[in-house]
Amino acid sequence: MFKTDLEIAQECKLEHIRDVAAKIGIGEEDLEYYGNYKAKVSLDLLRRNENKEDGKLILVTAINPTKAGEGKSTTTVGLGDALNKIGKKTMIALREPSLGPVFGLKGGAAGGGYAQVVPMEDINLHFTGDMHAITTANNLVSACLDNHIHQGNELDIDIEHVAWKRCLDMNDRTLRSIEIGQGPKANGVERHDGFNITVASEVMAVLCLSTSLMDLKRRLGEMLVAYNSKSEPIYVKDLKIEGALAMVLKDAIKPNMVQTLEHNPVLIHGGPFANIAHGCNSILATKTCLKLADYTVTEAGFGADLGAEKFLDIKCRFGGLKPNAVVIVATIRALKQHGGVAYEDLKEENVDAMLEGCANLAKHIDTVKHFGLPYIIAINEFATDTPSEVEALQNWCKEHGHAMSLSQVWAKGGDGAIDLANQLVELCDQPNSYAPLYDVNDSIEHKIETIAKVVYGADGVDFTEEAQQQIALYNTLGWDKMPICMAKTQMSLSDNDKAYGAPINFRITVRELRPSLGAGFIVALTGKVLTMPGLPKAPAALNMDINEEGHIVGLF
Ligand code: ADP
Repeated sequence: MFKTDLEIAQECKLEHIRDVAAKIGIGEEDLEYYGNYKAKVSLDLLRRNENKEDGKLILVTAINPTKAGEGKSTTTVGLGDALNKIGKKTMIALREPSLGPVFGLKGGAAGGGYAQVVPMEDINLHFTGDMHAITTANNLVSACLDNHIHQGNELDIDIEHVAWKRCLDMNDRTLRSIEIGQGPKANGVERHDGFNITVASEVMAVLCLSTSLMDLKRRLGEMLVAYNSKSEPIYVKDLKIEGALAMVLKDAIKPNMVQTLEHNPVLIHGGPFANIAHGCNSILATKTCLKLADYTVTEAGFGADLGAEKFLDIKCRFGGLKPNAVVIVATIRALKQHGGVAYEDLKEENVDAMLEGCANLAKHIDTVKHFGLPYIIAINEFATDTPSEVEALQNWCKEHGHAMSLSQVWAKGGDGAIDLANQLVELCDQPNSYAPLYDVNDSIEHKIETIAKVVYGADGVDFTEEAQQQIALYNTLGWDKMPICMAKTQMSLSDNDKAYGAPINFRITVRELRPSLGAGFIVALTGKVLTMPGLPKAPAALNMDINEEGHIVGLF
């Protein structure tokens, strides 16, 4: 039997975070300790190093995932350890896990096996309180908005046209749609409202895309909260609370430092949803890594159709980041699923189905090539993979001229990705022609069509009547010159989550657009997108426990 992620993490003898930081040249003056193993890193550190040349930036992305994820975080951590092992000064930049899903389905959010970040329990629980601060900032907007309406509504806010929701870091389906202000008049104005999970809040996206505390404040002020009775937009700055919001987030904006099981430095900061938002860790954390390390390994949520596209079209554009290479993680299990094998049968050997499923991998490779970046496929090895399957996949890569490496980081840590690390060092030295896919000055329709055709392989895009009206409104309001943040199922390249592999002859339907003006993008919604998840019938919380000594069991 394999050890659980938690058991492996608990066996690790952690180093004091001061010593981990010292390895990358961060002194105590730039650290704020949260106990012995976590620290906030000062923003001043980045300011002082602003003129220093950036190190190399490696993005880890994946094919369309199956239920459990494909091991992007695991590969990111293992690759970072491997690069350090071959003598390259490397930092890892990850997203912060959301607490809500921890109690839902089983599955780690800080890597897995021997490629993890620690202290794993803390990272998955309250960590350094960033989620709490983001929740508070979000709900301060709600409280001030409803108070404004209650106190006379000087801004003439139309209560049928509020664009802001409350939030909580919990999977709680009952809060998706609620009535507030019920009871006597002193309880406020009665209206319809709802909750998002904290990571789906625009405040999270804003925090991740901000480049300084003042930029954070400006972006917070730009967030749209409602429309007035003349359908004119009302922003946070109209409520005059952007200063208070920025104050609430003064520590949350600083990146968090932790370590891998092999004691290498990691910044974990920001974790926006990869559907309603852009799904990447913060620009500030990534930039800090780039200034301090020769190599930075980071990841983006879901498959390359969502995460990598948004990383390359939104995050890199806003942050002025220049990626050097992309790792595309694939698992034999998921390729078999893309080749038509049912989830229950993934343990059975099936070379033909796997080769069929390579169509999905091939499409993501095309996408990365479109962005002008060198890439390598990392096959994340599972114990259930058979030698024939591994060999067939290796041959497929060779035949098609794709760089590839078998990654065994889950079982071996950094030792499991030495070859991958060596190949990446070479790839990073290659010149590349990275450019975002579209010009922000193109029309909203054209930008969406470009993503749908190039990245998803769609024939075109249909806009519902509602979407068309919104586009017309945004054009008149001058909101059309921003990047697009696509909200689409992560399970398929198309907007149909049952269409595995590389579907052809399909169109995408955009049913609604939502302006995230603080974040600086327009969200295009396809299919159903939930921004407040629910719990499964048997939540993972049922298996969790803690004893008198504070020892935790059952958390992954
Ligand atoms: P992603 O980042 O793609 O969502 P993660 O790296 O978070 O995926 O991994 C999801 C889960 O899968 C974790 O619990 C991890 O332990 C497990 N996992 C990842 N790679 C392997 C592997 N090679 N063998 C077994 N389990 C794995």
